[in-house]
Amino acid sequence: MQSQPIDFHPPTEDAAPFLLPALGTLFVDRADRFAALAREHSLGDWLAFLGRLSQAQHDALKALPGLPLPDAAARQQARTHGMPPLDPARRPAGWRAILRHLAGQLEAEAPPAARAALTGLLTVDDARLEKMADVLLDGEIEAADAAALPFVAAALQVAYTVLASRLDVADLQKLDAHNVCPCCGSPAVASVVRLGAAINNLRYLHCSLCNSEWNVARATCTTCDTDQQVALQELEGSKGAVRAETCDACQSYLKIVYQDKDPNVDPVADDLATLALDLLVDEAGYQRAGPNLLLIGAHGG
Ligand SMILES: [Zn+2]
Ligand SMILES: [Zn+2]
Repeated sequence: MQSQPIDFHPPTEDAAPFLLPALGTLFVDRADRFAALAREHSLGDWLAFLGRLSQAQHDALKALPGLPLPDAAARQQARTHGMPPLDPARRPAGWRAILRHLAGQLEAEAPPAARAALTGLLTVDDARLEKMADVLLDGEIEAADAAALPFVAAALQVAYTVLASRLDVADLQKLDAHNVCPCCGSPAVASVVRLGAAINNLRYLHCSLCNSEWNVARATCTTCDTDQQVALQELEGSKGAVRAETCDACQSYLKIVYQDKDPNVDPVADDLATLALDLLVDEAGYQRAGPNLLLIGAHGG
């Protein structure tokens, strides 16, 4: 493991504060990234399957059920109270149709354990699916649900990514907690240092659920806000596209991916292709600050 100090603090006042998900490309780009990462990887079969899951998420966009946004009064009330406009605890029922669409599409080609989970998801009733969504988002994971939860997560990601893409950035506001999504209140999966004209070299946190991004200062802990005890860790032999940003003040870490090192890097896919980095920083005593929902349950959460 290599560690290095961080010494730059670019201003963020002029940056776009929020980047809403690009619905047309997000899941298909992620599918391509999983497929590329799967080649010559010790977890290649699993990553390749997650690529097919991402493609199924993209395909689900073509046959969307009704997904109503909260009405204007509810969005205004959330804003008044400093809350995000979307609330995963009040899910539109259409997410269950997305889940059944994903399960039907993937069942035949899934590895055996996943196939059993998908078959199960196609047979359980609505109340059971809602319970599983509650468990995924805020409950204790039970072993019996573990294999099914990544698919529940994938369906909720589709629903909330669609909803977030329909929001107006003018209605969003920065929240007091920097690691929480301003659109849906979920924790960030990782942060991205972006390439691109107006956002070059700026760092954005990426929502684990709705794929929205929000600007945060670089070289600052996204959990406790200190800029004093933050360091970057990476695997030996890494080209530096994925690092873990560790904080000695709160003992947390979150990964950070760099588009200038690899323009195709993806905060969800590259996170799951670098679990060895999680092991290293876990062993050094740091707690991960946000989940990757495609991993919850599958490998013990
Ligand atoms: Zn979100
Ligand atoms: Zn911290």
